[in-house]
Amino acid sequence: MSKIGDLSEIIREFGPHLHDAPPGGWRADRRIERAVPTHCPYCGMQCGLYLLVEQGRVVGLEPRYDFPVNEGRLCPKGVTAYLQVHHPDRLLHPLIKRDGRFVRASWDEALDLVAARFGEIQSRHGKNAVAVYSGSSLTTEKTYLMGKFARVALGTRYVDYNGRLCMVSAAAANLKAFGVDRGSANPWSDIPLAEVLLIAGANCAETFPILNKFLWQQRDNGGRWIIVDPRQTPTARQGDIHLQLKPGTDVALANGLLHVIVEEGLADDEFIANCTVGWDEVLSTVELYTPQVASEITGVPAEKIAAAARLYGQARTAMVFHARGIEHHSHGVNNALAYINLVLATGKIGAPGRGYGTITGQGNGQGGREHGQKADQLPGQRSISNPEHRREICAVWGISEGELPPAGVSVVEMFELMRRSEIRGLLSICNNVMVSLPDTNAVRRTLEGLDFYVCIDFFMSESARYADVILPGTAWSEDEGVTTNGEGRVVKINRANDPPGEARCDWWIVCEIARRLGRGQYFQFQTSRDIFEEIRLASRGGNADYYGMTYEKIEQQDGIFWPCPALDHPGTPRLFEDRKFYHPDGRARFHAVEYAPPAETPDEEFPLILTTGRVIYQYLSGNQTRRIKFLVDQCPEPYVEIHPETARRLGVQDGERVRVRSRRGEGIFPALVTETIRPDTIFIPYHWPEPQAANLLTNPVLDPVSKIPEFKACAARIEKLKGSALPLYGAQRRGASQSEA
Ligand code: SF4
Repeated sequence: MSKIGDLSEIIREFGPHLHDAPPGGWRADRRIERAVPTHCPYCGMQCGLYLLVEQGRVVGLEPRYDFPVNEGRLCPKGVTAYLQVHHPDRLLHPLIKRDGRFVRASWDEALDLVAARFGEIQSRHGKNAVAVYSGSSLTTEKTYLMGKFARVALGTRYVDYNGRLCMVSAAAANLKAFGVDRGSANPWSDIPLAEVLLIAGANCAETFPILNKFLWQQRDNGGRWIIVDPRQTPTARQGDIHLQLKPGTDVALANGLLHVIVEEGLADDEFIANCTVGWDEVLSTVELYTPQVASEITGVPAEKIAAAARLYGQARTAMVFHARGIEHHSHGVNNALAYINLVLATGKIGAPGRGYGTITGQGNGQGGREHGQKADQLPGQRSISNPEHRREICAVWGISEGELPPAGVSVVEMFELMRRSEIRGLLSICNNVMVSLPDTNAVRRTLEGLDFYVCIDFFMSESARYADVILPGTAWSEDEGVTTNGEGRVVKINRANDPPGEARCDWWIVCEIARRLGRGQYFQFQTSRDIFEEIRLASRGGNADYYGMTYEKIEQQDGIFWPCPALDHPGTPRLFEDRKFYHPDGRARFHAVEYAPPAETPDEEFPLILTTGRVIYQYLSGNQTRRIKFLVDQCPEPYVEIHPETARRLGVQDGERVRVRSRRGEGIFPALVTETIRPDTIFIPYHWPEPQAANLLTNPVLDPVSKIPEFKACAARIEKLKGSALPLYGAQRRGASQSEA
């Protein structure tokens, strides 16, 4: 029997249902008691906003004109975010599954059961038989706690987080090249100072909308854009040069750009000689990547490659940004390193308008990978394999070095261990693997096979349906803490309302489980502030040093950029200004990287390349945004973008439902016939569950270094359905054309 039981009953009780009004409905006679300054719960911009509170309930919001990142701007997700707080789908009580049905339980009953079952599994199968899978939409306090809970309370090596599906390729490349992993080396206020922006694999207009404030300022200053993307995204359409490459060919393109820069004497020889290591190897590698060779691999005309290289190379100031489009690949780290080579070869880093950055997806994607919930990491961006780092953290936690487990593995690898029954119990918080992991069919089988699965969340997700116990946690407005946005700025989230029903703060839940596991002495936190104070100590001396921050100072300064090593230190908005990098010799590292194709390339059976991504109206796995009616009205379901040439060949009409199939699964999607995609490529947005999950199709193959799955390229085919010429919903058409606008 399926572990879910009666799915229709679960959906009837827990949703997703659509919701479109604040508590008490739409009224003009509100008496707003408080306007609580805080930040949007969604993407890594962390736009500032005020939550408006009436009688203890969040009834609206206003954008913060006083916060320098967004200066009063919010995107469609941000303006409707408050509607999740008192949503009728909120989980209000602990739930235990009995005979396939979720039954209300008391906190004691649920927590005792969790501790007893995890204890049982560990005593039979060893400490590592229980794993923790965490999230990066959580505050940094919670992410720190999850890493500590796994290692100190459970004593398991297996902990990882959903940033593994997001930023890890960029993070690994940053560490290799610069010796430090901060998403952006520059504050975003540097963007308008750049003459040229090179943006690779980032549809900023939809995935990071408020960044456009800076992009348009740069444009107003006369700036130029080079956009690298297989799709003519809204961002690409505004570019001066659009390099519409074949998915997965970024190394060839970046090497081709560097080839031209070298040939035309645009490299910065002084910077290379005094600030870097490894140039000679790169030089001999890119020698072979003439524009013609790069063109053959990427499908981008050679003259466009040369023109883009000249534009970037000749500019006095320029910045490179990239995002998941180049990072979600089995060569994601090499892709990022190839673009970093361009930055280092031209010395365009460490000064106003000269820099580099990766664009963060999740709200706390940066903070969530700094303080120890990543499989290989300890707080302060320390390495769990470094003996000195281990000693430092054991001293803060008050445990012996022998008690601290070694590095674990990535979440995709953890799921493989679950399939082999080496991991039998799972505690997950704030993630939705049934939508977000590749190969949904394999993920479903894994969850069904677990001995014991516990979810902490504030909505029932498609994954939580498989849980044995669900513990109702808090929405972002119900607790305080910090997040770190994509530019490395630590900001303060403030509490506006109490958790509804019997829902409790996530940190309280985790500390209570630790207490029941007999490890309560290490988790004596009474507030989020207590946890933050421990983070200050644990991060001290690490790369991501928060020691000099306090909650009050963060608010006074509109956020603080790390590192901030002392209370009288202002923080570090721009890294590398002294031309010193974080490697022991102070030099940045070039990496010679060769092009290799994606793990799966088109063939006769699966002749198209499937790539996936996001739309502006939905957020990641959609567990929050698929419940907000305004957002769903704009984009109610996923679709498959097909070039008119491909559609004509297959006899597919715009709006017709087609089956998309890969070696792992299939789904039925309405066709969006559009010239904005390459003829050899199709695109599906990934925010929805099965039977329309893009990840039914994607390839779980991993980058060998970052362990990120190859979401952005797999082989697929399109099949016509008999009698399937159904029109798209009107709203769907609106959503699609908006995305094209
Ligand atoms: Fe929220 Fe990001 Fe939109 Fe800003 S850009 S409102 S942080 S989703």
